[in-house]
Amino acid sequence: MQVHCSPMKDAHYYLQHTYGFQDFRDSQADIIQAVVDGRDTLVLMPTGGGKSLCYQIPALVRDGCGVVISPLIALMQDQVDALQELGVRASFLNSTQDSATAQAIEQKLLNGDLDLLYIAPERLKQERMLNLLKTATIALFAIDEAHCVSQWGHDFRADYLRLSILHETFPQVPRMALTATADERTRAEILSRLDLHAAEKYISGFDRPNIRYRIALKYNVKAQLLRFLKEEHPHDAGIIYCLSRKKTENIADWLQTQGFTALPYHAGLAAGTRATHQSRFLREEGVIVVATIAFGMGIDKPDVRFVAHLDLPKTVESYYQETGRAGRDGEPADAWMIYGLQDVIKLRQMMESSEGSEEHKRAEQHRLNAMLGLCEITSCRRQALLNYFGDNLIEACGNCDTCLEPVNTWDGTEASRKALSAVYRTGQRFGVNHLIDVLRGASNDKIIQNNHHQLAIHGVGGDLDNNQWRSVYRQLVARGFLSVDMERFGALRLEAKCRPLLRGEESIELRRDVKQQEGKRQTKTALPDDIDVVLWEALRDRRRQFADDQGVPPYVIFHDSTLQEMCVLLPQSITEFARLGGVGERKLEKYGTDFLQVINQHLTA
Ligand code: ADP
Ligand code: ZN
Repeated sequence: MQVHCSPMKDAHYYLQHTYGFQDFRDSQADIIQAVVDGRDTLVLMPTGGGKSLCYQIPALVRDGCGVVISPLIALMQDQVDALQELGVRASFLNSTQDSATAQAIEQKLLNGDLDLLYIAPERLKQERMLNLLKTATIALFAIDEAHCVSQWGHDFRADYLRLSILHETFPQVPRMALTATADERTRAEILSRLDLHAAEKYISGFDRPNIRYRIALKYNVKAQLLRFLKEEHPHDAGIIYCLSRKKTENIADWLQTQGFTALPYHAGLAAGTRATHQSRFLREEGVIVVATIAFGMGIDKPDVRFVAHLDLPKTVESYYQETGRAGRDGEPADAWMIYGLQDVIKLRQMMESSEGSEEHKRAEQHRLNAMLGLCEITSCRRQALLNYFGDNLIEACGNCDTCLEPVNTWDGTEASRKALSAVYRTGQRFGVNHLIDVLRGASNDKIIQNNHHQLAIHGVGGDLDNNQWRSVYRQLVARGFLSVDMERFGALRLEAKCRPLLRGEESIELRRDVKQQEGKRQTKTALPDDIDVVLWEALRDRRRQFADDQGVPPYVIFHDSTLQEMCVLLPQSITEFARLGGVGERKLEKYGTDFLQVINQHLTA
């Protein structure tokens, strides 16, 4: 198909004519240049950064077939469908196929009729497979999810470790290792395990600028969630994470009664039910999955518009990984979480009582502290998040809640001192509710029985209401001034850290929690304001028909961003239609007329 003498001209040709994209992003062009020239590469890019093009285009440019090694068998069908939609000759070989199908694909490979072949890593254990590859012309090896080599206990680790065989058997074929997991240790291990020491390294930052991070105070889970969904994501696909299985079912059931398509997902459900729910999430539009952390690994749906956490994740790593499932297509997406005092107490307790050595517990506490720190921070959340992973963001991001609505702080020294004294004077044996009763001067049975009405501290806290005291205690626990006594059902204990504060040698700034704030947020759905909703729905309907006919997810036909461009630019001819992002030659030919017709009907109606 290509006619140019320069490989990079060919690469641009494919980008524009096959994929319908105007320019390469960031380091894509450099990476593609390196691979096309036959050099090995390590590509580290955040999810949604555009890794696939980095091996797909060189596979088209170079002679022979590009072999992609991926552990995510469940995704191969969709990946291959999407490529075939673009007119790329792609296929996969995995254990789900019958032998006749597999043989036909092997024949295509040998005949030079394939541009891309996806295989699972365990295939390379087979002598037969290696021989087949030796006979064929191979353009490159792309090792996707390359971090699998380094993760202990990872299902695919053993198979990934064997991939060093590629270098020995095919020394002249360029290899790429691709991953979104980027800590130093993993990176070093990929290079050494896969014999990629000489590879060129392309490391992009961790940032996911299209994700808006928000962490709000939890006061009424259902009301807050409903408001978030109704105001910001009434028809969008999203994931809601909860800590317990039971809660996922409760929330999903309740969302159904509120008119949402919501499905539970957790390890306790029958395998068949889980598979159905996952596939409905992938194939239908606007499905919400309410899940425990069992859901997500290998979910490669590009148009997840939000990830909501109703409970606090235990580590920043999990938070980042879970929220990272939103907005892989680069369009605006929300990471929204609510959390409160109970979450802090519950997690602290869980860690205290967990099995394992003291050292292990300390490490867990440490990681939880980092998560709590992120929740309570008063400066840019993205900066803190990236900083945690060793990435630097010079300026505040402007796309997180603390940037959008700067947090008010207040001098909480006096209040904190009272709160800590109440813990001390009552013998470090009571939970938050009782402590607040003491501070606010209540005289209920428990107070009287314990003689707490006679303490000097009784009633000194009338200046703050219940919620304000809860806020003080939450922040003191989150910041490690207080710990939670597991044997006494959430009784609070003083930690050494609070001494200077109690002695008046230190002061403390606290966050001012505001409940109402959320109502003031600008509502931001996935749709820009100036889009005609009627046309948008008509285009989505058309897309859904095509998708159903072909048994593929709607985004394989066109991404939302392409439909949005149709609404804004209102193309009137095939030439204008061809200019839309994501419309290559093949899709133009296949769908152009139909979608133009929908637009025309709308304009003349
Ligand atoms: P990753 O594998 O890194 O998570 P993908 O390769 O799936 O990311 O790319 C994410 C999205 O960005 C896809 O929808 C892809 O089509 C789009 N994309 C990638 N490169 C470009 C580009 N140069 N121009 C426009 N869109 C692009
Ligand atoms: Zn920010």
